[in-house]
Amino acid sequence: MTTTASRGSVAVTAAAASSAEALREGIAEFYNETSGLWDEIWGDHMHHGFYDPDSSVQLSDSGHREAQIRMIEESLRFAGVTEEKKIKRVVDVGCGIGGSSRYIASKFGAECIGITLSPVQAKRANDLATAQSLSHKVSFQVADALDQPFEDGISDLVWSMESGEHMPDKAKFVKELVRVTAPGGRIIIVTWCHRNLSPGEEALQPWEQNLLDRICKTFYLPAWCSTTDYVELLQSLSLQDIKYADWSENVAPFWPAVIRTALTWKGLVSLLRSGMKSIKGALTMPLMIEGYKKGVIKFGIITCQKPL
Ligand code: SAH
Repeated sequence: MTTTASRGSVAVTAAAASSAEALREGIAEFYNETSGLWDEIWGDHMHHGFYDPDSSVQLSDSGHREAQIRMIEESLRFAGVTEEKKIKRVVDVGCGIGGSSRYIASKFGAECIGITLSPVQAKRANDLATAQSLSHKVSFQVADALDQPFEDGISDLVWSMESGEHMPDKAKFVKELVRVTAPGGRIIIVTWCHRNLSPGEEALQPWEQNLLDRICKTFYLPAWCSTTDYVELLQSLSLQDIKYADWSENVAPFWPAVIRTALTWKGLVSLLRSGMKSIKGALTMPLMIEGYKKGVIKFGIITCQKPL
């Protein structure tokens, strides 16, 4: 009986490991293939813009890029990270092509180390750092956020901008963020979540789960969690000054803007050149809009401090 049970659990563990490996490979390939297109059309920030709620103004391309910078600024402000904090070293977990790291390094004079699963992104991020004379401050490498190649407590700001949604094991992800944070340091997680469940509710409605599953397939995402799940994880690790907010309304203009750029002549030509993963990604964008509109998808920020 015991033998059967333990064999069973070994099989389950092996299956989980191989599905985590398949996900890692899928994420790396997805960003290897699609980052050039994003870079060409949108520049170096691969995250939502932050807008005033109900802003009905149709923004120009530069307006949307400013909104992406504003996302970084609002996240730092929400977490209370100001120039006076004298941030010295930042770990940028899921760094894309390094836009946040270069911005934060320039703003605070901090050293930033970024990690991504995509070798194409790491190379492009390092090349951009060199081109912007920032390579003495920022560097990028291929590494897994769930097993970071850093010593304990090396960073006084740990930054995860829209990478948490890719993590198959949220508890392990959060533990790694906490491990590399110095005592007294701050963690900022900005991420896609599903809505909080109501009291007594055990899972999302089948139609809601079905919508998320369709998004997961194209964007290489595992199961989603809620902002409350993150907060509870941070509480279980005795972190301090935990704050969170729902910024879904502030990001609402973003996906319609991305779709508009994809539908321009330049956008369509670049999309076709970029390949199937980008095309599938573009076709999935309306589902993100639907998810926000129906209240299933929430754009959350969660921040906390590691005790001294
Ligand atoms: N933070 C960046 C990029 C967001 S895109 C920006 O705001 O521009 C998501 C990023 O998360 C990609 O760079 C992807 O490679 C990274 N990522 C996803 N899963 C990861 C993992 N397990 N380890 C490291 N990086 C990961």
